[in-house]
Amino acid sequence: MPTPHYDYIFTGAGCAAFSIVLRILQTPSLQQKRILLIDKDAKQSNDRTWCFWEQSNGFFQNIVYRQYQYIHFRSSSFSSKFNIAPYQYKMIRGIDFYNHALRQIQTQSNITFVQDTVVEITTHKDVAVVTTTNGDKYTASYVFNSILFEHLFPKNRVTNIAKNQYHLLQHFKGWIIETDSDVFNTNEATFMDFSIPQKHGASFVYVLPFTARKALVEYTLFTEQLLSQNEYDNGLQQYIHQHLGISHYSIVEEEFGIIPMTNYPFEKGTANIVHIGTVGGATKASSGYTFQFIQKHSEAIVAALAKGLSPQIRASFWKQRFQLYDATLLHVLATKSMPGDAVFAQLFANNKPQRILAFLDNDTNFLEELKIMSSVPTTIFMPAALRQINSPYKI
Ligand SMILES: Cc1cc2nc3c(=O)[nH]c(=O)nc-3n(C[C@H](O)[C@H](O)[C@H](O)COP(=O)(O)OP(=O)(O)OC[C@H]3O[C@@H](n4cnc5c(N)ncnc54)[C@H](O)[C@@H]3O)c2cc1C
Repeated sequence: MPTPHYDYIFTGAGCAAFSIVLRILQTPSLQQKRILLIDKDAKQSNDRTWCFWEQSNGFFQNIVYRQYQYIHFRSSSFSSKFNIAPYQYKMIRGIDFYNHALRQIQTQSNITFVQDTVVEITTHKDVAVVTTTNGDKYTASYVFNSILFEHLFPKNRVTNIAKNQYHLLQHFKGWIIETDSDVFNTNEATFMDFSIPQKHGASFVYVLPFTARKALVEYTLFTEQLLSQNEYDNGLQQYIHQHLGISHYSIVEEEFGIIPMTNYPFEKGTANIVHIGTVGGATKASSGYTFQFIQKHSEAIVAALAKGLSPQIRASFWKQRFQLYDATLLHVLATKSMPGDAVFAQLFANNKPQRILAFLDNDTNFLEELKIMSSVPTTIFMPAALRQINSPYKI
């Protein structure tokens, strides 16, 4: 039997793959392309909750589950509630995202979803070849890969300060809790609450209310080592009792996640293989936020495909300054030259939240960045930044 050939194959069908495919479906010149999505998972579980912010209705507005006009920042030295207009802080539930994507894909005869495990992606002549665990092979003009294969992101990475190689983890455990009385304000999210013990390193909790009696409470750390499940549970219990003042509640759902916070130079791929999502370098190293970077990358990829151009999108040289800022913060966190809670407290105490949100989205101009930089101690951050200029991470 001849190897089935597609215009585009997506290895891994998660946030990045669906973000591109759904845009392809809205692009007249691309919507008839033959597309194959391969994922080891059926994408039927609510395995994550995405938070992000934007100023207007974005591509996924109709599946935004909740959005907030106000955010709280708290720490031992500075706390405030902010009106973030014109931004809204938004939340999308994983299951809503997957259902929304699968519903649209299922109506398209030119798109196939296969549940299988991909073991290899290679290039042969001018096509990309995908091999799955049971030996099936598929070819495509372009493969868009979001699988974190070991050779693309080795597991044994450790921080090496001397070489400016930082490998921190954003790790978190969240509980969706339900209370028996009204506790939460559904117009206000807790963006970061650092007023909790910092004994493990930079640690905070965020709270996203669903209703007055239901919220996601997420205990999050920016450190090198994971905690035991007991330690996450204790952190959540203490926060719910001591900070939210809730003694009676039930846990209706749990989520756990690990997001790399690293200046690792992810490969961009080859002429036919394009890495997308986290493995395409879409995760912001200093914050773990990825969702909106995936959206920007997806837009650029689909625009390039529509023009018949290569979907290998290179960041402009000038935009690369944000990688320098990210590596600088990673250096400060990894060397513990300033505690993470103090860094974020100074940022929020000395800047409008809109400027911080734009900065975290890599959307500020240089003048705004100077204001951000002058709001943290230059004696700590300037030498850290100079190190990154002199010796960026190389593999
Ligand atoms: C629990 C959690 C919460 C998060 N919350 C936020 C947030 O609030 N805001 C934000 O900006 N970012 C968040 N992120 C980070 C980021 O947005 C997500 O990880 C996002 O899903 C990354 O998209 P992706 O397409 O790169 O990877 P994924 O969405 O993980 O997609 C990769 C796909 O590849 C599949 N796969 C893996 N290996 C194979 C294989 N060998 N063969 C076939 N399929 C395979 C997986 O099943 C998966 O479906 C969160 C991450 C996690 C884990």
